Amino acid sequence: MKKLHELNFDNSYARLPPAFYSRHVPVPLAQAHLVHFNAAAARLIDLDPDQAARPDFVDILTGGSLLPEFQPLAMCYAGHQFGHYVSRLGDGRALLLGEVRNKQGEKWDLQLKGSGETGYSRGGDGRSVLRSAIREYLCSEAMHGLGIPTTRALCITGSREEVYREQIETGAMLLRLAPSHVRFGTFEYFYYQQHFDELRILADHVLEQHFRHLRETADPYLALLREVIASTARLVAGWQAVGFAHGVMNTDNMSIHGITLDYGPYGFLDRYQAGFICNHSDHSGRYAFNRQPDIALFNLSCLAQTLLPLLDAQPEAAAELAKAELAQYEAIFTDDYAARMRAKLGLQESMPGDQDLCADLLRLMEDNHVDYTLLFRTLSGPEPETARTLFRNPQACDAWLERYQARQQADPRSAQERSRSMEQVNPKYILRNHLAEAAIRSAADDGDYNAIDRLMTVLQTPFDEHPGMEAWAAPPPDGAQAVQVSCSS
Ligand code: AMP
Ligand code: MG
Repeated sequence: MKKLHELNFDNSYARLPPAFYSRHVPVPLAQAHLVHFNAAAARLIDLDPDQAARPDFVDILTGGSLLPEFQPLAMCYAGHQFGHYVSRLGDGRALLLGEVRNKQGEKWDLQLKGSGETGYSRGGDGRSVLRSAIREYLCSEAMHGLGIPTTRALCITGSREEVYREQIETGAMLLRLAPSHVRFGTFEYFYYQQHFDELRILADHVLEQHFRHLRETADPYLALLREVIASTARLVAGWQAVGFAHGVMNTDNMSIHGITLDYGPYGFLDRYQAGFICNHSDHSGRYAFNRQPDIALFNLSCLAQTLLPLLDAQPEAAAELAKAELAQYEAIFTDDYAARMRAKLGLQESMPGDQDLCADLLRLMEDNHVDYTLLFRTLSGPEPETARTLFRNPQACDAWLERYQARQQADPRSAQERSRSMEQVNPKYILRNHLAEAAIRSAADDGDYNAIDRLMTVLQTPFDEHPGMEAWAAPPPDGAQAVQVSCSS
């Protein structure tokens, strides 16, 4: 494990031409202090977790005294926001400090969010608030705990600096880790300006740094598209299976690594509601829970469009090639989602009728206001039939439970084996909004960060029982549906 200055920096993005970014330095926040440090994320970059105790740790990571190895820059990108193309977005409140290669040879961006204005701030203040930093910090660790690909977060720093949102809040910074922060929108930025040389440099950079295994394929750019389609399909299948709504699936929030990126007004389902909208500014429900798989395909089509000039074919043929790749999306998503739901139901082998069994359960759950996570966890336990009590009308569930039991008979495993496997895919704990809110309130109102710590510990292993923490497995106390969250982060 290494000290900060011993980390193995290799800042490949900073070596790209100036058209890819603009250089800025972080603007420190008044009275910055460490709110929480994530030792698990530190290990990803070979950082000794004891480094967090250094008196200069916060200063180094928030702009007071930067490491000489840092080459802070704001990446530029564009994106389709709510279906409309915006030609210039970019890091308006974040800076890429540098890239670390760990002992395993993996590359991790160190991105500081909330670091002050950049050339892409478009009138924004360049800041993040403690509330949204905690939301992202907790959720990225929760997603990782659930086995869903995601950016990670190394630490949160708080401050006394006032930041104006819907009300006065305090400024904070989040240090985020990701293989890279290249987004679909990074490709769009060059494509729509017809800067095809830069577009090729970007694609080559991505292939060189992150998809080396594709470089020797017949058409590496097409192979790249194929991989991003597959990883995104699987990512969204993971979201649907665990009941996660991202909330702002704009193309600038879509990672080319197929990982969850940019946690804004996200929400986990409490009671199952197919059309759940977590983002209170999403008036049309474009990013409703059940629309995510289609939106991901739309976003992938946007990415595919940008790669056309690079494909090894004449324009019309290139479009056909890209279309053929996009046509694979549905099957990859459907198969992956079906496999995940089968595992949630403890069914080892696929049989005709399984999809209906699952779809009928979801419909019943919606009609009966059943908590999504609790239902599957109950089905995993020693008395699955008690799941009926979670339904407003328990009788509505009985016929389904009979069908389910009959289907289980056809499965080769013993009830015990099945239960064990189900408990490994049906979490007991998810980051319910009311839990995040309580942790945020303790931190913001009382400067008490213990709830963040306890919540993180539970969410890192959400399939374990965590005796004594059962209250966190329960639906919201007032039985309220998952609430909509403000986008003002
Ligand atoms: P987001 O909704 O967080 O994905 O951000 C969309 C765009 O708005 C990105 O270009 C962000 O950098 C920018 N942005 C969001 N909040 C701020 C802020 N407080 N100051 C400056 N830019 C911001
Ligand atoms: Mg974003």
